[in-house]
Amino acid sequence: MAFDSVTIRAEFPILAQEVNGRPLVYLDNAATTQKPLAVLDASRRYYEEINANIHRGTHHLARAATAAHEAARETVARHLNAADPAEVIFTAGTTDSINLVAAILALSPGDEVLISTLEHHSNIVPWQMLCERSGATLQVIPCHDDGTLDQDAFRGLLSERTKVTAFNWISNAFGTVNPVHEMTAAAKAAGSLVVIDAAQAAPHLAINVQALGADFVALSGHKVYAPTGIGVLWGKRAVLDALPPWRGGGEMIKEVTFAKTTYNDLPFKYEAGTPNIEGAIAFAAALDFVHGVGIEAISEHEKKLIKAAADGLSSLPGVKLYGPDDRAGALSFAIEGVHHYDLGTLIDQMGVAVRTGHHCCQPLMARFGITGTTRASFAAYNTAEEVEKLVEAVDKATSMLR
Ligand code: PMP
Repeated sequence: MAFDSVTIRAEFPILAQEVNGRPLVYLDNAATTQKPLAVLDASRRYYEEINANIHRGTHHLARAATAAHEAARETVARHLNAADPAEVIFTAGTTDSINLVAAILALSPGDEVLISTLEHHSNIVPWQMLCERSGATLQVIPCHDDGTLDQDAFRGLLSERTKVTAFNWISNAFGTVNPVHEMTAAAKAAGSLVVIDAAQAAPHLAINVQALGADFVALSGHKVYAPTGIGVLWGKRAVLDALPPWRGGGEMIKEVTFAKTTYNDLPFKYEAGTPNIEGAIAFAAALDFVHGVGIEAISEHEKKLIKAAADGLSSLPGVKLYGPDDRAGALSFAIEGVHHYDLGTLIDQMGVAVRTGHHCCQPLMARFGITGTTRASFAAYNTAEEVEKLVEAVDKATSMLR
């Protein structure tokens, strides 16, 4: 069946509006996606019908909310092909998930944490904090001029000192798709724990955590058509069972006395306090939406749009594209003599929403000697006409700014 972005668009009420008198062209999906009716309905139904605090409750609503929350966990587990739903820890998002892992690991001086030049600040700073706390050293995989990671350098950096290797699957800044299966295998062979930032992979690729072989995978609901404030840390059961808890409080305990506390089993050991119940339920609705459309179909559609945008933009004078040709999700570019902020502001006047700046990747920008780029990023509901509007708007804005 042909992919029908027009039917899909009808599921996203926010897209029907005009911005500055022009139909909204929303191309800031790597920052956050818009939400389909199925997700909005799930959030609303939760509060209209079953809102209650979960677990421990004896009453009807508490049981219904608990069942829906745990069913959401099972949906996420199926989506990730997790061996066990208990490996799915609900968090506030990717940042929260990575901070969780960095907080529960204990390293020593001489140990190394290996990350990459392509990382988002949320996959850099928590590791720097861990290194500061423990005396471990941060190592960085360099990247080539085309925005792909230097795999030879990566293998050269791996050693028995490498205790943690953390990298993204897809770069939010350049759309680079990293060979995560090979990288994971190499890091595991060196004896390292592997943490994958799948924030940008989740909306564009099928994630099979068992096939991946990593120890941890982090993602955010809001990048996959779900609300903000909900995300997941998937972790291998044996690894998580052996690690200490993070935040202390309700839910994560078995028994508390003033003398000693014993901790709950997974996943609750890592879910202190009242969770984002509605968020988890809406996240499951978003994943059901993605399944309904088909992640492969979404990905194929987006690839065509990215290719059309890359072709259109590179035909304009002075445009430089960043990242490799087979990028996913996001397309970053710069225009000679035009500041990205001015460009973004002007094309917003034409209804086109893109992101400008460093995309929370300042070290990557420094590697390329730039302060930022303009980034168009795509989702299931974007259309070929929108790509044309983007290219037209960039062309027009460029001639006004030059
Ligand atoms: N990693 C990547 C690759 C991202 O794109 C983002 C969000 N831009 C994050 C991590 C952080 O995600 P969140 O802000 O949802 O925690």
